[in-house]
Amino acid sequence: MKLTYELIRLELRHTWTIARGSSDYKENVIIRLERDGVVGYGEAAPNSRYGETPESTLAFIEQAIPLFAKADPWHFVELERAMGELQPAQNAAKAGLDMALMDWVTKSLGLPLYRYLGLDPAKAPLTTFTIGIDTPEVIAAKVKEAAPYPRLKIKLGSDRDEEIVAAVRSVSDKPLLVDANEGWREKHEALERIRWLEGQGIFAIEQPMPADQLDDMAWLRERVKVPLFADESVRTAADIPRLAQAFDGINIKLMKAGGLQEALRMIGMARALGLQVMLGCMVETSLAVSAAAALSPLADLADLDGNLLIKDDPFTGVTVDQGRLVLSGDPGLGAQPRN
Ligand code: MG
Repeated sequence: MKLTYELIRLELRHTWTIARGSSDYKENVIIRLERDGVVGYGEAAPNSRYGETPESTLAFIEQAIPLFAKADPWHFVELERAMGELQPAQNAAKAGLDMALMDWVTKSLGLPLYRYLGLDPAKAPLTTFTIGIDTPEVIAAKVKEAAPYPRLKIKLGSDRDEEIVAAVRSVSDKPLLVDANEGWREKHEALERIRWLEGQGIFAIEQPMPADQLDDMAWLRERVKVPLFADESVRTAADIPRLAQAFDGINIKLMKAGGLQEALRMIGMARALGLQVMLGCMVETSLAVSAAAALSPLADLADLDGNLLIKDDPFTGVTVDQGRLVLSGDPGLGAQPRN
């Protein structure tokens, strides 16, 4: 297998602000895997929250090149395990490599990934559209732009929560998913915010408190009605058993998981423990978003809008119709380079 890669800079449509900070651009890595005239593509979206940088991602890919050079891509299960043994971290890089591998395998078979997995694309769920933290005027404008999406996600977790919800509610009564991104640090504060939000038409809350405060989360869960989803508290399947008492569901992202194969194991484990499944993403092109969307018929909720936040998407792939994900029927992940 011939493995090559390229660091790309993605300019964002709007400055992206969440509880942790702001950015105007994102640097991701596109991976290309070639053998027997078939090319598989993957994308790594490193995230500083998990100790990843573009440099650490490139370093992991370099480390994996000798492994891929001698491996048989049809032994993709074994290859994914061997990749995991190279380093415990750098899951975004692993996700990009696993994606390229699964794209190559399913393209070689001539099947869309969802079909290979036995999934019905008509069961793809609605995706939310995310409104980042901003001024009330900009938030109201973004909510109006998001007219085709029946469900929105809003980022809270700063001292401006009430102002943001008021700005959204001034122009829309759509059901809202709230993501606090670990922003409520104290359990009584979190309880007060959630009780107030329960009267504001919300249908779920993501990561109300810091990832390691699981006892506080379990305390909170006993006192509120709205389903609580883990995001920063969960990366891979190994994290899930200890979360089952503290959350109602988990947000699975390919970049946290380290790829499609681990994401599938996570979905299986979440189901076995009675947890709901949300599929999310980072700021990514249509390549990585299409890969996640291929698994979406297995999810209760999707938040797969990372590609809609960037200006010049270098890939085409999954689209959205009235908020519902429409999977491409092309073989592989369902994404193609734009040129
Ligand atoms: Mg989140």
